[in-house]
Amino acid sequence: MIYYAREVQVGDIVIGGNRSIVVQSMTNTFTDDAISTTRQIIDLAKVGSKLVRLSIRNTKDVQALPKIHEQLKQKGVKIPLVADIHFNHELAILSAPYVQKVRVNPGNFFILKSKDELYSESDYKNELEAIGERFVRLIQECRRHGTAIRIGVNGGSLPNRILQRYGHTPQAMVQAMLEFVSMAHQEDFHHVVVSIKDSNVIKTIDANRLLVREFIKAGYDYPIHLGVTEAGSDLEGIIRSAIGIGTLLAEGIGNTIRVSLTGSPVKEIPVAYEIIRSSQKNYIDSSLNQKYLNLNSYQSLPELNLCSNYEQVPLVSSLKDIRMLLVNNPSLEGVRVSNDLKNEVDISIVLGEVLMKFPLACIVDERENLTDYYRLLFQVTGRNINGAEFISCPSCGRTTFDIETMTKQVKNTFFSYKGLTFAVMGCVVNGPGEISRADYGILGSKSGYVHLYAHGKIIIKNVPEREAVKLLKEIVDRETKYHSSSTASS
Ligand code: SF4
Repeated sequence: MIYYAREVQVGDIVIGGNRSIVVQSMTNTFTDDAISTTRQIIDLAKVGSKLVRLSIRNTKDVQALPKIHEQLKQKGVKIPLVADIHFNHELAILSAPYVQKVRVNPGNFFILKSKDELYSESDYKNELEAIGERFVRLIQECRRHGTAIRIGVNGGSLPNRILQRYGHTPQAMVQAMLEFVSMAHQEDFHHVVVSIKDSNVIKTIDANRLLVREFIKAGYDYPIHLGVTEAGSDLEGIIRSAIGIGTLLAEGIGNTIRVSLTGSPVKEIPVAYEIIRSSQKNYIDSSLNQKYLNLNSYQSLPELNLCSNYEQVPLVSSLKDIRMLLVNNPSLEGVRVSNDLKNEVDISIVLGEVLMKFPLACIVDERENLTDYYRLLFQVTGRNINGAEFISCPSCGRTTFDIETMTKQVKNTFFSYKGLTFAVMGCVVNGPGEISRADYGILGSKSGYVHLYAHGKIIIKNVPEREAVKLLKEIVDRETKYHSSSTASS
């Protein structure tokens, strides 16, 4: 099954068709600080971002947009801008004249009922009708100004009406998308790009595969923006992004990508280009892809080992190699990784998704400098639980505390807390959703303050950011078998 996306013009660039994959990112400045925001857009453009998204939180942010355009013009930088909108469709309508694309989130575009209230059939229908009225107004404004719309579904902020019917599944994410896409289609508005992201890599991959199948069935051909949301920081974030984005690109899915790494967005761009390079080298033809997708994945997977001097396993130098081996023998025991897979991105794309679904037990790679990487890969793919797991959002103009430092502190403090998941999230857009899937969490509340969460519920509100990790450690230690002494020695 091959998916051909139509071309969608966004300012001077085109997404879709046979065009190159467009690399994009997002600022993490306050958008109403036009000087800092312009500076970061220029920094991103210099390293190769072709499109830049900005958080629009209020009318002050909207008012900053013409100033940012003017400053970019003065500096001779021409780059399309995207307004990122949550909760307030009026802001989307207000932003449409000043940007080349507006991103809306079906999870919070309009919500009729508060969380935990049950949706009846008629509530569901009423909410969709109310969304339709607002969405059509946005479409009309975008049509007037030649502005594209990205419908951006996020697993951390799915609408309650959908969660109650479908749970937190790839089907739920695709359903949230289809509702919005069909409204645009009915309005004969096709200036649309779509995205489905989740912090869970396998859900991101499966949801995008399902989306493509549903789009082909329905006759839709909108370009797909790929990303693994809240991928985290450092190598962990790179591995998650390489597996999630790289696997799909190698299958021919995806027209524009954003790598979400916690901290400065500038460092995302070289990773994004590396993922594109590697996925193109690992491109899978559709007939092999179909045979691979027809395989049943395994429910229980053995512990994985980095083996040495194990000659009996086949050599793998590409995604094609490993998928052909699995098509012939889904219970393949192990593989030797070729030195042709030259870095962490290459190996993550070739092995990552496979390790999550098939019972390989032994990976041979004698390059000693990659030992720590493999330890992390086996953890990120859920095969060996070596320590705690961390989720953190990339940060954006909605972040009101130093999330990069906080994430580092959380990782340093809790890395040995085996089996626990910690989420560090900037704001309420995706924060509560992600934190409810983690054991413990930290969520930005107001400038310099955060809420602490345990088991999805707020336990302490508005803690100064400098005290948060220490306080969270006391809570975690009280609740678990861990104590300060064991952590200090780990
Ligand atoms: Fe921005 Fe993080 Fe909030 Fe997402 S969760 S909107 S990246 S601050």
